[in-house]
Amino acid sequence: MIRLAVIGDPIEHSLSPAVHGAALNRLGIEYEYKKVLVHPENLGEFVKTARAGGYDGFNLTMPHKVNILPYLSQTDEEAQYYSAVNTVCVRDGELYGFNTDGIGYELALGRMGKRFRGSRLVVLGAGGAAAAVIAAAIRGGAESISVACRTAAHAEKICDRDTGDTKVKICGFSDTEIAAECKGAEVLINATPLGMEGVAHNFDGFDFLDALPQEALVSDLIYKPNKTKLLAEAEARGLKTQNGLDMLIFQAIAADERYLDRKLDVQDLYKTVIDAVKDR
Ligand code: NAP
Repeated sequence: MIRLAVIGDPIEHSLSPAVHGAALNRLGIEYEYKKVLVHPENLGEFVKTARAGGYDGFNLTMPHKVNILPYLSQTDEEAQYYSAVNTVCVRDGELYGFNTDGIGYELALGRMGKRFRGSRLVVLGAGGAAAAVIAAAIRGGAESISVACRTAAHAEKICDRDTGDTKVKICGFSDTEIAAECKGAEVLINATPLGMEGVAHNFDGFDFLDALPQEALVSDLIYKPNKTKLLAEAEARGLKTQNGLDMLIFQAIAADERYLDRKLDVQDLYKTVIDAVKDR
């Protein structure tokens, strides 16, 4: 029996137990996957429990993805590249950190017939999720990334890395500024909480969508509700859309590969998991 958990604060609405549960059931693995509320000041205590054999691994969500770093014996190349960890494996009392967010988003894009290489992207927001998508896009050889953000300093911080051949531009969050970046873009990614269940704010308007080419994809990292206003507006304009569920599922399957230390049939598991969680 493998003992797993997802930790965060808040954690109540996490879909991770359902997502991992569906994948592990399909694989016939005996498991326990808990949802554990861990306040920032209690992370050390949780780590102690995990090291003492309480868990074989755990996923991390806000606000622990960076704070876990000092507790790890080793991090993989991805986690070093992202300076954040979303998956920890516990082996012989040592903690090993991985980051599967980038691969999760890349696989999600692939499902929509898109890829990073050579693509022009617009990312809305400059928090943790934006950082993961931007890092993965640079690594994946995107042609250009425009980051629209209300706090320029946050965008500057997450873009402060070797961007290789990818052109990175930071702009403001007004409708006109976003629209200017949408011209000729192939993928628009919402990495802000605007439109999320329980968040009072939404975009002031959606006119910027009119500037996107007809074959563009509008990708919202939010999965609750499963169709945000942004996605509904994009759909009404005949654009392709994708919510955040695909990213969530693919990063979870990639995490399961780390837990089980073996390659999995990712596309087969995706089908099982999406059927299990799409209406939750
Ligand atoms: P975060 O670190 O708090 O960053 C949020 C970003 O949104 C910040 O850049 C913030 O701007 C911006 N923002 C917030 N309110 C805004 C407003 N009213 N106007 C303009 N910008 C605003 O959050 P996160 O962890 O990156 O998560 C972002 C979204 O992605 C959430 O909806 C989350 O559920 C989703 N997500 C999905 C997945 C998945 O697997 N599908 C994974 C991770 C996150 P400032 O920089 O100015 O503060």
